[in-house]
Amino acid sequence: MSDANEWQNQNISVGIHPWDVTEDWQKNIPYIIRWISQPQTKAIGEIGLDKIKGPRLSLQKEAFIEQALLAEKVQKPVIIHCVKAIDELLSIKKEINPQQRWIFHGFRGKPQQMQQLLNAGFYISFGEHFNAKSVKQCPIDRMFIESDDSHLIYKEIKANICSLINDKE
Ligand SMILES: [Zn+2]
Repeated sequence: MSDANEWQNQNISVGIHPWDVTEDWQKNIPYIIRWISQPQTKAIGEIGLDKIKGPRLSLQKEAFIEQALLAEKVQKPVIIHCVKAIDELLSIKKEINPQQRWIFHGFRGKPQQMQQLLNAGFYISFGEHFNAKSVKQCPIDRMFIESDDSHLIYKEIKANICSLINDKE
């Protein structure tokens, strides 16, 4: 990945995933800065918080906040990876008050939790596994669909989600 030209025809997102945050994560920031200003970089992510996997949460928080602030600087949206850390995520968003979109990726939670996120201005991205009630209740203009690392192709996931949206009433 040393040469930006290799990627010039692909849309990418760039960021240090919470699982990959190391004690010396700061040393990767110049590299991140160089990449996020590239036109093919459409988003910053996945960045976020994970209480199940990865290093201690305080370290994850530092890396997350710094990268979220970089996203504000380059005015690009953020793709959030968050596992069992919604309260922390909500308080960080409140603190930063970002102007850029924050997209919660792979959302599997219940409608009540989704509502908390929607109220805080989040966009919700659904993948292969989702709570059907949440999909039905999610406003279309706040929704994304993703394949992530699923074995299903994007089209299949989209079809599953759209069938739920269509029988809303
Ligand atoms: Zn993720």
